[in-house]
Amino acid sequence: MKRPEIARGFSTQSVHAGTYHDAETGGACSPVFTSTAFAFPNASAENFYPRYFNTPNQKVICRKIAALERGECALAFGSGMAAISTLLLAHLQPGDHAVFQSDLYGGTVQFVTRELLRLGVEVSWGATQEDFAAALRPETRVLYVESPSNPLLRCVDLRAVAKLGRQHRLLTVVDNTFATPINQNPLTLGIDAVIHSATKYLNGHSDVNAGFVAGAEAVIQRVAATAVNLGGMLDAQACAQVERGMKTLALRVERHNANAVAIARFLAEHRLVRQVNYPGLSSHPDHETAAAQMRGFGGMLSFEFHDSRLIDVSLTHLRLIMPALSLGGVESLICVPSRTTHRTLTPAQREGAGIRDGLVRLSVGIEDVEDLIGDLDHAFSSATKATR
Ligand SMILES: *Cc1c(COP(=O)(O)O)cnc(C)c1O
Repeated sequence: MKRPEIARGFSTQSVHAGTYHDAETGGACSPVFTSTAFAFPNASAENFYPRYFNTPNQKVICRKIAALERGECALAFGSGMAAISTLLLAHLQPGDHAVFQSDLYGGTVQFVTRELLRLGVEVSWGATQEDFAAALRPETRVLYVESPSNPLLRCVDLRAVAKLGRQHRLLTVVDNTFATPINQNPLTLGIDAVIHSATKYLNGHSDVNAGFVAGAEAVIQRVAATAVNLGGMLDAQACAQVERGMKTLALRVERHNANAVAIARFLAEHRLVRQVNYPGLSSHPDHETAAAQMRGFGGMLSFEFHDSRLIDVSLTHLRLIMPALSLGGVESLICVPSRTTHRTLTPAQREGAGIRDGLVRLSVGIEDVEDLIGDLDHAFSSATKATR
């Protein structure tokens, strides 16, 4: 029973897109094919093998993310970093030049500085549209950005990035992990490739490491040719977990969005808080850019205390929100970027990047927002008493 894939709304696609319809049993869920050996030739005369990125459960989640991101196809990886490294290694040669946004995910920065440079790829960093344009050289091949970025939630104009890429024949790449396909679809804005750490919102339950690259067939085919050699695939069981997680993506993201807006407003009005960084607030420097390319503003925000001494005491008084790295799960997590994600930068580098010691990052979960605000309120008042 093969049913045609029709373009539908995001909630419908989260649930249905890509499902493997099991003709024998009529089961509602995709069966899990754990085999690493498949009889040759199988029904489609394709040699299935997990490291060839072509097994049934890999295809299920690739069809789902491709439908949600409005791409032609996708590849599923064992982590976001496997997706990022494979995409970049597939498209860059020694002597090539690539331009990266300066406030990227730390693991991506580390991959660029420790691996790409060693392989003879030249790189430039930039924060704005003007920086990216000024950095271009005849041998530039890739322009790579993240929007919203971590931890200040800065947003770059993705239509402008796509235009620059078309004018100079570059591969444009957007890490869409923070936004999710529910809030933002870079491919429809003209971007060539979208990256996801599916470890975060797509799986959404903080229990699987996975990644995706999505885009046009030509882009993905080139990545697939390298992926087979690097071997960073996702196994069938993990694919099935990611598929289940993604079925509730649209529903979860609606709640993440709504909770984050409410918490951003609560924080913006709080007397202990000096600044809130959330692209949904009109006070955010990139609010207009975000509003022009996002349907919702996501579940990530950061804020700064007037007095950075309040951080430690408030974190110890939280009863619900957990101090932890990572993000995008159903549970709310909080961390201090200057001590965790951006610890390896020098204080001067952090100051230059706008990441002050009083900055706190919050991954807003899908709990009842009254409980989350109550938790913050209680922790803040306890901290005020303790430091008085
Ligand atoms: C976590 C993350 C990654 C890396 O993903 P892993 O699954 O941990 O390898 C890449 N980009 C962003 C924006 C992330 O948050």
